[in-house]
Amino acid sequence: MFFNEIIGQAALKKRLVQSVKDGRVSHSQLFFGPEGAGALPLAIAYAQYISCTGEKNDDSCGQCPGCLKYSKLIHPDLHFIFPVNNVPSKKEDPSCDDFLAEWRSFVLQNPYASLNDWYSFIELENKQGLIKEKESLAITKKLSFKSFESDFKIAIIWMSEKMNETASNKLLKLLEEPPDKTIFLLIAENPETLLPTVRSRCFPVKVPRIADEDLKDALKSRHQLDEAQSNTITRLAMGNYTKALELIHEDEDNGSRLEVFREFMLAGYSEDIESGLKVIDTLNSMTREKQKAFLEYGLKMIRENAVKHFNDNRLNFLNPAEEKFSIKFSTYIKNSNLAQLTDEFNKACRDIERNANSKIVLLDLMLKTGGLLRQ
Ligand SMILES: [Zn+2]
Repeated sequence: MFFNEIIGQAALKKRLVQSVKDGRVSHSQLFFGPEGAGALPLAIAYAQYISCTGEKNDDSCGQCPGCLKYSKLIHPDLHFIFPVNNVPSKKEDPSCDDFLAEWRSFVLQNPYASLNDWYSFIELENKQGLIKEKESLAITKKLSFKSFESDFKIAIIWMSEKMNETASNKLLKLLEEPPDKTIFLLIAENPETLLPTVRSRCFPVKVPRIADEDLKDALKSRHQLDEAQSNTITRLAMGNYTKALELIHEDEDNGSRLEVFREFMLAGYSEDIESGLKVIDTLNSMTREKQKAFLEYGLKMIRENAVKHFNDNRLNFLNPAEEKFSIKFSTYIKNSNLAQLTDEFNKACRDIERNANSKIVLLDLMLKTGGLLRQ
């Protein structure tokens, strides 16, 4: 991980780089900040910069053997601790080492991902992850060896607030009497829940939420969003890149929903049974939850278009694609059919919930709404 892959945080990156240049790297540091601010990628970029043996200016060189290993997170002097728990695919009471392959691909995929993303990545279902005593023992052992390739051995403890009390106390011993040439980088979103004795042993590194301008630039350059989309998502994400990613996916979901909704309404309106059955087949292949989400989306579109039709743009919550679709669609939503259209979608939603045959429910809805739109 390079510093130049981190979104924003220019001042903090500069400080971290300077501490390495000055040889003032504190042996235990606590990177703390809200979800999606980038504490984990920053800590990894910092660790790589410390371990880089090549020509480095304000970022790691990317060429030396250390950097090459960091690019796959397989450097022998880099150790990770993170919350885990029992999952069907692993032995009972697993440790971090049992999840190393998953952890590496998870972080390489998206170093900004959240704790919940990690839980669903390893299929933890509804359980919570934990950092147990044995992790502190294992790291004590690993750090007791001499470093393999770089000057320092570095341990990154992600979501360190998930350490239970015995694990924290064991770690505290290590922080109090650290093995030679070791660096501990603890990461936390809620540092106040850490053991105060652990917290006070660490040099605090505050990772603030990402500045709006930086987040907006990242959305444009990394995700090819246009000005309007990146503005909306920046406003809603509030400096949280993880949240921004969620919003982008939601937007994509809504994009395909709009397409299905358009076809659904058009088929009903034009009494085109052949196209209608195709749309219904598409919907029928989805889970009931997705079918309900589609119907709720339909309700939103009808509501928003009614508002639009009555010329009150203040209340409109449509994205640019929906806006375009609504120019014509809104002319079909009238005082005379609004209540009935809403009733029909609500009724279909209830029927789907009650496990009625979706195909019949949706065909019935399509024919009825078509009739209402033609009025
Ligand atoms: Zn390097």
